[in-house]
Amino acid sequence: MKEIIEKLEREHSLSVSEYERLLDNMSKENAEMLSEKAVKVRKQIYSNTVFVRGLIEISNICKNDCIYCGIRASNKHCDRYRLSKEQIIECADEGYSLGFRTFVMQGGEDGYFTDEVLVDIITTIKKKYPDCAITLSLGERSYESYKRLYDAGADRYLLRHETADKAHYEKLHPNSMSFDNRMECLKNLREIGYQVGCGFMVGSPYQTNKELAKDLKFIEEFSPDMCGIGPFIPHKDTPFKDKEAGTLEKTCYLLSIIRLIKPNILLPSTTALGTIDARGREKGIEAGANVVMPNLSPVSVRKKYELYDNKICTGEESAQCKGCLEKRMESVGYRIVTDRGDIKK
Ligand code: SAH
Repeated sequence: MKEIIEKLEREHSLSVSEYERLLDNMSKENAEMLSEKAVKVRKQIYSNTVFVRGLIEISNICKNDCIYCGIRASNKHCDRYRLSKEQIIECADEGYSLGFRTFVMQGGEDGYFTDEVLVDIITTIKKKYPDCAITLSLGERSYESYKRLYDAGADRYLLRHETADKAHYEKLHPNSMSFDNRMECLKNLREIGYQVGCGFMVGSPYQTNKELAKDLKFIEEFSPDMCGIGPFIPHKDTPFKDKEAGTLEKTCYLLSIIRLIKPNILLPSTTALGTIDARGREKGIEAGANVVMPNLSPVSVRKKYELYDNKICTGEESAQCKGCLEKRMESVGYRIVTDRGDIKK
């Protein structure tokens, strides 16, 4: 594997079959070789800094029925909520005073959040805090809608592609959702001018290294500014409740590979990674990630935004969440910075 890993480091590109071989040969030794190279290149670009994004989970109401997701429409046990404009602004106020300069508004596909409602919220935050970047993660919308939100001031959009294999996509989603539309959305976001993030779950049901190799090739070709990956974790009220979770080792292995594919990419060490392992987020950073996303949502709703079982950080106040992550990053020799955290070109 040494030749393949060195080729990846040198050329930032492999063939799909080479990616697959690299995944088939996951070993402690290869993981170390990859993470050493990934950390080296990440330090050349971002030194030992880690960017923070304040996450505001605006609604768990969703019209979609993604089979893996705890807030899917047909989950009758999900206690639904939606934040008001005032609540969202309060989260941003608190985040701003804690030093955050990027807010991520994430939520289910909740019909309440029309373009008008979102434009009003985006404009208000941008007017109050012009030095902040706004990231949206609100699922699939039309080109026109994405454009209106961009023109109102949204800077970035996160839309995980979930899997780059159409047949696999169809095993994870109901018939009403389409792989082609998801991909179309990503292209539209890019065309409009957003900084775009894609991503996938590691160890999602029916995923093999064949699908993962396609994900890696897709990331190489699409060249996103951001890429969110985290382990799949089953949720007790979904049809995938008895499926196995993804692993820490494989997620870290993939983080290192993605860093080598695109050295300047913004790569979060996710809450899901922190959920499957007490030091998961630290280990993600040590594998090549450079972003963390502490939760800014009101504590009263945190437990309700449950995409998967046992999600961490649902009890603390925002300041505690930030402090905790700061200490965790320091424990592995990294330092949190609270600017907009744009990609270094
Ligand atoms: N509705 C938005 C935001 C989705 S939630 C959208 O469609 O983009 C953000 C991400 O959480 C999803 O893209 C998915 O990859 C991840 N997720 C959902 N259920 C999960 C689970 N059971 N385990 C791990 N990650 C999950």
